[in-house]
Amino acid sequence: MGLRYTELAHIQADIKQGKTSCEALVLHYLAQISAKNAEINAFLEVYTDEALAQAKLIDAKIAAGTAGSLAGLVLGIKDLFLYKGHVCSAGSKMLEHFVAMHTSTALQRLLDQDAIVIGRQNCDEFAMGSSNENSAFGTVRNPYDTQRVAGGSSGGSAAAVAADFCFASIATDTGGSIRQPAAFCGLVGLKPTYGRVSRYGVVAYASSLDQVGTITHTVQDAALLFSIMAGKDPLDATTATHAVPTATQINATQASRQTIAVLAQVADQKQAIHPEVWQAYEQTIEKLKAQNHTIITVDFDYLKYAVATYYLLTTAESSSNLARYSGVLFGHRSPHAQTLSQTYLQSRTEGFGAEVKRRIMLGNYVLSADYYQAYYTKAQQVRRLIHDQINQIFAQAHCILMPVTPTPAFEIGQKTKDPIQMYLEDIFTVTANLAGVAAIAFPAKKSAQNLPIGMQLLAPAFAEAQMIALAKQL
Ligand code: GLN
Repeated sequence: MGLRYTELAHIQADIKQGKTSCEALVLHYLAQISAKNAEINAFLEVYTDEALAQAKLIDAKIAAGTAGSLAGLVLGIKDLFLYKGHVCSAGSKMLEHFVAMHTSTALQRLLDQDAIVIGRQNCDEFAMGSSNENSAFGTVRNPYDTQRVAGGSSGGSAAAVAADFCFASIATDTGGSIRQPAAFCGLVGLKPTYGRVSRYGVVAYASSLDQVGTITHTVQDAALLFSIMAGKDPLDATTATHAVPTATQINATQASRQTIAVLAQVADQKQAIHPEVWQAYEQTIEKLKAQNHTIITVDFDYLKYAVATYYLLTTAESSSNLARYSGVLFGHRSPHAQTLSQTYLQSRTEGFGAEVKRRIMLGNYVLSADYYQAYYTKAQQVRRLIHDQINQIFAQAHCILMPVTPTPAFEIGQKTKDPIQMYLEDIFTVTANLAGVAAIAFPAKKSAQNLPIGMQLLAPAFAEAQMIALAKQL
């Protein structure tokens, strides 16, 4: 695919030597977008003039020696981040014309360090999906094989980096939405600990699991963006007060002679795991051993309940979060409605897509008076067990190693008929969100068909630095 830059350090070194400039970089990405975005469909909107103007401004700052640490970084943002004065549609007809009134904290912190935003990226509607086939604005195609999905829900964000439409992306991960598309597109996907990065100004899906993270070529650049975005935000009461390591501290962290847990129950799924994914998993284990780490096999009894628990809790939370899109204060308002109740009914009928409607109905059902105890309460209890058992594992091990997905990127249309098949795609990713811990997906291997295969590490809450150090070794 003729990638130009995969490390920000190289970009910044070349800028320093006069070999490139922010303007030249933006022009390069714009040319890539205009050549290939029509096919890949990663960007929903490109801020051509604005990005060029910003590039000139930052080039001047570089010349004056006043540029921020991200000067030279051209960023794409998932269509879930509010960016003042720009449309944020969450991949939905419901918010097709919604213009943000303020900027999300995570994005603002990157802008303050002179990142340049080149555009807004396609995603599954309200971040609900594993293939980007649920976007109201069309499927995203995988740059490695355009007959295949790029993953979801942040498919546009991963495909854009893989296709060299931008250097890096910021996205969200509620149950795998950063890690799974990163794995399908051969990239690094970081989901920090719950509460690490502010969710202020990010369209909510399931608030007790949503977390902002990054899609990059390298682990080092994930660390850099993370260190800038993370930390307490008075505008999001769930952000943690824990000290955030600097990029230099993360890069200086050593991961030597660690204990890495593998889960016995992953092997139970072997018949559902693609042989080349299994091979990549075994090779990663061997690599860790060769690097003098100790591998232990532990039980995680709840793996088989993780997907069900996740879908009960996320549908419940999303049915509540999406109640605000009524066509009154927020969202599409049907021109056909006469009365208030018709306004609600028609606006939501017209504005939401099929998967979002399915989840709202499921969520209302699991929260309904008759079924609340059987489903929602039970799922909360199982979530607690998952949290506790994962943390028991972390009492014995520094990290957990798992595949990201059971298979490499699948074909477009292959799983759309059966929602359960699609949900099972998330078997290895949802646990990190249910337990609230950190996770990172990184490229492990290419399949015989040249499709990327990713592996992931999970680490205890707030242990990103150590996890990133180990991912870097791998
Ligand atoms: N695929 C999962 C879902 O559909 C995860 C989505 C996400 O992380 N936003 O809910």
